[in-house]
Amino acid sequence: MFDSLFPYTAAEEVTFFVDLILPIPVPKLFTYRVPRDMAGLLKIGARVIVPFGKSRVMTAIVARMHNHPPAKYQARYVLELLDEYPLVTSYQLELFNWMAEYYMCCVGEVMNVALPSGLKITSQSKVQYNPDFDYPELLTKEEWDLLKELQKHPALSYEELGRLVGEVHVPAMIKSLVGKRAVIVFEEVREKYVPKMVRKIRLHANYENREQLLMLINRLEKLPKQQEVVMRYLRYVPVQINPATNQKGLDKTVLNQDDELSQSSLQTLIKNEVFETFEVIQPRFSDTGITPQVEIRLTDAQQGAINKVTTLFQERDVVLFHGITGSGKTEIYIRLIQQALEGGSQVLYLLPEIALTTQIVVRLQKVFGDKMGIYHSKFSDNERVEVWKGIISGQYQFVIGVRSAVFLPFDNLGLIIVDEEHETSYKQHDPAPRYHARDVAIMLAHWQKAKVLLGSATPSVESYYHAQQKRYGLVELFQRYGQATLPNIRLVNVRQERKQKTMKNEFSSALLQELEMNLDRKEQSILFQNRRGYSPYLQCEDCDWTSECPNCAVSLTYHMRAAELRCHYCGHKEEVPRLCPVCGSTKVKTVGFGTEKIEDQLQILFPQARIQRMDLDTTRTKNAYQQIIKEFEEGQVDILVGTQMITKGLDFDNVSLVGIFDADRLIHYPEFRATERAFQMITQVSGRAGRRADRQGKVLIQTSNPEQAILQKVLENDYFGLYQEEVTERQNFNYPPFSRIIKLTIRHQEQVISRQAANKLAADLAEKLGSNRVLGPEEPLVERIRNQFLYDILIKLERDKINIKAVKAFIQECITTILTDKGLRAVSVVIDVDPL
Ligand code: ADP
Ligand code: ZN
Ligand code: ZN
Repeated sequence: MFDSLFPYTAAEEVTFFVDLILPIPVPKLFTYRVPRDMAGLLKIGARVIVPFGKSRVMTAIVARMHNHPPAKYQARYVLELLDEYPLVTSYQLELFNWMAEYYMCCVGEVMNVALPSGLKITSQSKVQYNPDFDYPELLTKEEWDLLKELQKHPALSYEELGRLVGEVHVPAMIKSLVGKRAVIVFEEVREKYVPKMVRKIRLHANYENREQLLMLINRLEKLPKQQEVVMRYLRYVPVQINPATNQKGLDKTVLNQDDELSQSSLQTLIKNEVFETFEVIQPRFSDTGITPQVEIRLTDAQQGAINKVTTLFQERDVVLFHGITGSGKTEIYIRLIQQALEGGSQVLYLLPEIALTTQIVVRLQKVFGDKMGIYHSKFSDNERVEVWKGIISGQYQFVIGVRSAVFLPFDNLGLIIVDEEHETSYKQHDPAPRYHARDVAIMLAHWQKAKVLLGSATPSVESYYHAQQKRYGLVELFQRYGQATLPNIRLVNVRQERKQKTMKNEFSSALLQELEMNLDRKEQSILFQNRRGYSPYLQCEDCDWTSECPNCAVSLTYHMRAAELRCHYCGHKEEVPRLCPVCGSTKVKTVGFGTEKIEDQLQILFPQARIQRMDLDTTRTKNAYQQIIKEFEEGQVDILVGTQMITKGLDFDNVSLVGIFDADRLIHYPEFRATERAFQMITQVSGRAGRRADRQGKVLIQTSNPEQAILQKVLENDYFGLYQEEVTERQNFNYPPFSRIIKLTIRHQEQVISRQAANKLAADLAEKLGSNRVLGPEEPLVERIRNQFLYDILIKLERDKINIKAVKAFIQECITTILTDKGLRAVSVVIDVDPL
């Protein structure tokens, strides 16, 4: 008699199972049973909803289908199938697996980062009978009645149940039924993503050519209202647009704008198949109505570069394009993108976060219109889901995006461009996978037989090395577009100026003079100080107290505008003390300087100047960044002060002066890539000057030590010289690209335990890998963050002749030993492969 309750009986000959990726940090797939009616519909790469734990549900991805029940546990049923087609392509699954293995994390962690949260779920508690339940004798009469009731519904919310059995009874009854395993409580899934559809109209496909259309218009001669509607339509949609391929259509409202009559005429025309209606997803961005711009004529040098790239692609999968700032790299990318699209393949164009927010998007939109998808973390979830689905549907063949765009469901890539390939923001730090989008792009292209173009004015040492080794092709362009030349760079010795007392606060007399001249000429200036806030800390002149974060081993930065002390690591905020909190002295002073202080001093030095500041603090809101750029572009700002945000990809005509503060701090950062970084940053920001043809730009670099080798390289714009020195260093000290590095960071809120765990882990690793390969443990630069004490262990491995898979497995094993050690409870280990 209970059989009717259970749709899945032992009589079933074949039971299907699926192995699923769940978005959690557990290093395995999970096996679930497939309800019979779902079995034929499932596809690898589709999303399903499954129960997890006692009351959770999760979105999972089908990775495998088979008929082997799991050995150790009773598989639970898949609750729901979300996709009829794979939402995740086979390439993506391959990518997920590769990333999990390469970056030493779980495939579920990759999935979690890859899918925009709109493709995951929100939920509501629901109750469903348990099809596996087979102890009906345990139930009371009421429970039994309820269970029968539940059988009629796929699932009920608590509210719906309440209506059935009375609200007060629900919690107790459910609790009892759950206890007896007769029902399952789970979170019901709501897909967050709801596309906004709009109804559009277009000419019926019958009217594919001009003749047919003319005949129609003639035919309508006697029906002037209908004819008028057709003519109106043609005013908006040119005759050349083939109605059969017209995805854009026209809003109905455009046609019956002012009269009721046209509305009924339109209805008749639709009925007579002159027009047809169709639905499209309303694009939330990109449909800006920008019309394609006039063709740009490439210079011979630019065309030469394109030809060389194309030729090299015949024998190399990756080409490094080293083109100086202002050489017109973007124009070259545009041509290559057009070529790839004409060849019928997809294109991905990666850009660092901040560079994507502005000018370049507008430039590309002028060329590609709404064929181009934009994938950016500042966009809403729905917008990102639309790009995802638009790629699957074929709406977007070309996407411009930030690093996470490597996760999009491409299946036919022909070209990936990684612009500003040296940018460190391509590396994800948290959470895992700690991937580098450039390196992932190269793998992605490899699987899809696509080509990769890495572009930069200051290539990373790694990429340039690969080019030197002929692993990558290399194309170089050392000429700015038009008559423009690279700016003239001067070093200003601030130590000397301080001695001669010609400095005014942080400004050298040399810089002041240039700024003044620029203001007189109504030309714009950019000032770069890579530190935000007013001053990095406060100090008491009497007792030497300094402002420090209670949670981290760093000083609290003084933010004058916000009247706060802030920790840039954990976000801790404090009021600014009027007196020294230790000795009560009034002599609390600011030490060092950030962008706020520069802005402030500038306003005093040049009261008439219009000054704007661009850093994390002034660009928190969605459009603030664009707004500042726009004002600067329109000439409403004379001097723009900013952090490295202003170094990236900006293209202004009227900037003729760039000032760089505190170059020494950039250079002497205790990190093996510091010189490379400093060179890149200084060169990039300098590259903002003098992009207009008629006057050479000027760059002034303030330093205490103008003799430093790196600054001489900057002066001579000697990228190759810098590269050679760097690569020699790297070789001597066995750093990448000559070795691979895996960094382990051990964390615990007690320093002793953290240190103990780190020591043990390092010893375990060294025992097998050899002590020459294991460095540390060492306290990192900031040894405590959010009350966790940190220790770093660096594992340096040869590039070749090493079984890297086996080594990674061994490292994982050692970490597991530490994590399961009872004496070292609550230690965590962060694994970072190829740290930056
Ligand atoms: P890069 O990215 O190499 O710094 P851009 O692509 O931004 O250089 O080009 C610099 C400026 O020169 C831009 O304003 C761009 O529109 C212009 N430009 C480059 N090539 C051409 C060309 N062939 N015709 C017209 N303008 C060009
Ligand atoms: Zn004091
Ligand atoms: Zn802090």
